[in-house]
Amino acid sequence: MFLLFGTRAAQTLINVVAFVCNVCGVHAEQRVIKRSTKLTLFFIPLITMGSSYVNECTNCGAVTRITGAQARHSLGWSAQRGTGAEDPPRGTGA
Ligand SMILES: [Zn+2]
Repeated sequence: MFLLFGTRAAQTLINVVAFVCNVCGVHAEQRVIKRSTKLTLFFIPLITMGSSYVNECTNCGAVTRITGAQARHSLGWSAQRGTGAEDPPRGTGA
């Protein structure tokens, strides 16, 4: 019997918020991205093995790791401000 296991990394754009980047100091859009690693069997994703959240600056491209709670907080924050949380721009994925 032959089984082909592997892993696949996936990125999902969760939200876009705007604030002053602490790397470049510019008020720019910050993309909140969920990164997950999935176990695959014959290239079909089966189980999510782990996930992390990052914040990516659209101005300088700096990537900062954030917690899941911070990512969820960004959703509430943008919904409160009414800045397009219902229809965020879509990323290209990985
Ligand atoms: Zn920046």
